[in-house]
Parts: sequence; structure tokens; C-alpha cells
Amino acid sequence: MVSIRQKLVSANQAAKVTNGKNNAKKYIVVHETDNTSAGADADAHARLQLNGNSRDASWHWQVDDHEAIQSFEHYWECWGAGTYQGNAQGIQVEICVNSDGDFKKAVENAASLIAKILKDENIAIQNVVQHHYFSGKNCPRNIRAGQITWTNFLQMITSMETPKPEKPPTESMKYRIVTGTYSTRNAALSVLDIMQKRFGWVAYIEQEGTKYRVKTGTFTGLTAAKSADNKIKTAKLAQVTYIIEA
Ligand SMILES: [Zn+2]
Repeated sequence: MVSIRQKLVSANQAAKVTNGKNNAKKYIVVHETDNTSAGADADAHARLQLNGNSRDASWHWQVDDHEAIQSFEHYWECWGAGTYQGNAQGIQVEICVNSDGDFKKAVENAASLIAKILKDENIAIQNVVQHHYFSGKNCPRNIRAGQITWTNFLQMITSMETPKPEKPPTESMKYRIVTGTYSTRNAALSVLDIMQKRFGWVAYIEQEGTKYRVKTGTFTGLTAAKSADNKIKTAKLAQVTYIIEA
């Protein structure tokens, strides 16, 4: 997840460079800053907006290779898309192209930010569009030129949106519990003894350098493994335990 912060333009200033507060928040409009100067990163663009941009332009977010900065709440109708419709319905995201930045990383960060906005504002991936979509401007320039294709960019967003697939069914898998280390063999032996005699488990001692761990036989299913792990903790047999796949 890209790191995010706000550097919000004052309401007074915002009123001067937007069409007001009724953004329909239907689209995310993707831009590039076209400013390749060294140092023209997200912070520089956020400062520009904060200090009162002299151009008739405004945008909600700027993203570079290390962070995303928000300048306007999404309800403002920023002047970014070049058309009334695009401004009234779009959340404008500028990707920095400063020559001392990593453009590919900036694009990844933009994808990560957009995945978050889609979720927060309940916008569909189909409504992530280029500035070009509204006004025909060649923006975002490098993406349109295929440096990273638009299709890839959308895939990046989607893959960040979707939670990682779950591990295979855990109830049929086998697990062991391994304790942290004991400094003497005797300490490990007394734990082993309790596991074997009181709990009725299979268990072993494993030497690791000059230290010792106790390792159980296998438990089937994560539920069983967790309950065994709890038993070890309740009996205070180990300060640290690990459930590992057998
Ligand atoms: Zn643009």
C-alpha cells in the first residue's frame, strides 16, 4: 500500500480553483503531470496547489515514487479533466514524471491509491479513465505511449483490489507446534515430559546449536493445532510457540 497523506488546500482557495463541492465521484481520471524537472515530485505539486496555483487547474491527488498526497477532498469539483462533465464527476489523480523519480514505481503507487479510492467511494474499475477520455488531451502521456500499458495499469489496480487468495483448506492439512528455544536440555526435557505424559502427545527434542526446542507430532487441521498451541501456552510451557505446516 502506498503511503498516503493530506496537504489540503483551504476551503477559500479551493473555492477559487474548482466548480464547488458537488462532485458526483463517478470516475477516477488519470493524469501525468508532464513536468519532468528534477524535484517535481508529489510534494512539490501539493505545495504548488497549497500556495495558490496561478494556473486555472486543480487536482485531488498527486502521486510519485514514494507517496500519494491529497490536496482536495473528493467532493470538490477540481479543474483537471478539461471538460465540465469530467470535472463534475471525476476524482483527478496526477502521476509525477519527474526525471529524478522512478516512473514505474509512481505508476504502481497510483494503482495502489486508485484501488483504495475505488473501494472508499464505491466506484467500478470500468470508471477509471484517462484524461484523454474526456477532452482528447494526450494524457497520461507515457502510459498512452505504452511505457506501461493502460491494460496493465488497470490490471495492477484490480490485483491490488482483490484480496490475496486464501491458503488451501486448512482443516485437512497437518501441523506441528515448535517451541522457542530453551537454554538447557533439562528445561526442554521437563516440557517434553509434560507433553508426553500429561497431554498424551508425541513430542521430540530438537537441538539447535547450544539450545533446544520441543516439537510436537502432527495435528490434523489448524483448529486442532491452535487448541494444542493454547494448551502449551496455558500450561506456560513455552514463551514462544510456532505452528508450522508438517
Ligand atoms: Zn491530464
